[in-house]
Amino acid sequence: MSTDRDTATGSDRHTEHAPGPGTGTGTGTDQAAARSARAFGALYGVPPDGVWSAPGRVNVIGEHTDYNDGFALPMALPQTTRVAARRRDDGVLRLHSALDGGRVTELRVADLTPGAVTGWARYPAGTVWALAEAGHPVGGADLHIDSTVPTGAGLSSSAALECAVAVAYDDLYGLGLSRPALARIAQRAENGFAGVPCGIMDQMASLCCAEGAALHLDSRTLEHHQVPFDLAAHDLALLVLDTRVQHDLGDGAYAALRAGCERAAGLLGLPALRDLPADRLREALGALPAEAVPLVRHVVTENARVTEAAARLAAGDTPALGPLLTAGHASLRDDFRVSCAETDLAVDAALAAGALGARMTGGGFGGSVIALVPAALADPVAAAVTAAFTRAGHHRPSVLTAVPSRGAARLC
Ligand code: ADP
Ligand code: MG
Repeated sequence: MSTDRDTATGSDRHTEHAPGPGTGTGTGTDQAAARSARAFGALYGVPPDGVWSAPGRVNVIGEHTDYNDGFALPMALPQTTRVAARRRDDGVLRLHSALDGGRVTELRVADLTPGAVTGWARYPAGTVWALAEAGHPVGGADLHIDSTVPTGAGLSSSAALECAVAVAYDDLYGLGLSRPALARIAQRAENGFAGVPCGIMDQMASLCCAEGAALHLDSRTLEHHQVPFDLAAHDLALLVLDTRVQHDLGDGAYAALRAGCERAAGLLGLPALRDLPADRLREALGALPAEAVPLVRHVVTENARVTEAAARLAAGDTPALGPLLTAGHASLRDDFRVSCAETDLAVDAALAAGALGARMTGGGFGGSVIALVPAALADPVAAAVTAAFTRAGHHRPSVLTAVPSRGAARLC
């Protein structure tokens, strides 16, 4: 029931343990921006007006909480999507991605409508559509897109793409929108144009994260604050183990889970499951039909874990994050049921090899697992997970070291 993900958009897309370019300011970022600008010039024959970037993310904890108006604690990755862009005043939108060979997709902004664009181009086109739909005075542009964010790995390459286009357009058209407003636009693009019913967490992470920090996010109000997440100071590392599978049932199941949560909130007479406090959980579970019980239990306990995780980080007790991650995985596996054999195996093998905590991250049914490890154990833990996958006959996982990085930015 599992498929190799996204071979069309490149399988050779992971660096092994390398933070990759774009960790913040500095020469790596400058060179990447120059490469994007050069590629734009070679493609369109003129220089771009600028180059913008937006990162992928890992969610440290707070899974399937955003669409329940709850809390999450994501961090941005050093892996980014870059958009080199030049404004056009004739209403034409031209899109090119380095992941898609030499093809340029040409559209008219006035003709953008949900369903009219298929494939990867619906993410950037959807962002322009969402800006126009919200009444912002936007027109055409030429875009060249380049990315180091693995696609389809649960690291939010889709949000990185939308958010890079959103910040580019914000500057190109002088919109002056806030980051949360741009996040709503990017989410609208994904929900209303690309047809993916995601919450707001991915876009908020890509737009609002800061270097060296995790983002404590309230998905209802979009209030957010930076929580110091200094792994190196504690001799820790956060591994991202991409299982490289995405089980087919993912898309429909996500929508069904979301609908199940909304139904449960309705039965409890609440606007969203976020409004059920932990101390009323037991009483609420007794009033719900059996199928709603595990969903509600996951969301309520996961929100509590986010609050606790943010408090532990703020107190400088980063290692104490470990047990929360592992408890979060158990809840996703046993209650929310979005784990799978590969993510469970990666978690178990990482823990057995000395990880302080591990959990699946992202929507589930495959994708990536994060493991908080003593820095000295990063290689042995990665090797142990790889060996376990080989023994089980699974693909070799790809491994990244997650470095908390800045959010979207203009590079030049
Ligand atoms: P995730 O967001 O976890 O990576 P998704 O399935 O939500 O997974 O989004 C992946 C899709 O986003 C890809 O299949 C592709 O359509 C699009 N995408 C992401 N990054 C790029 C890129 N750099 N160029 C073209 N398409 C991209
Ligand atoms: Mg996505």
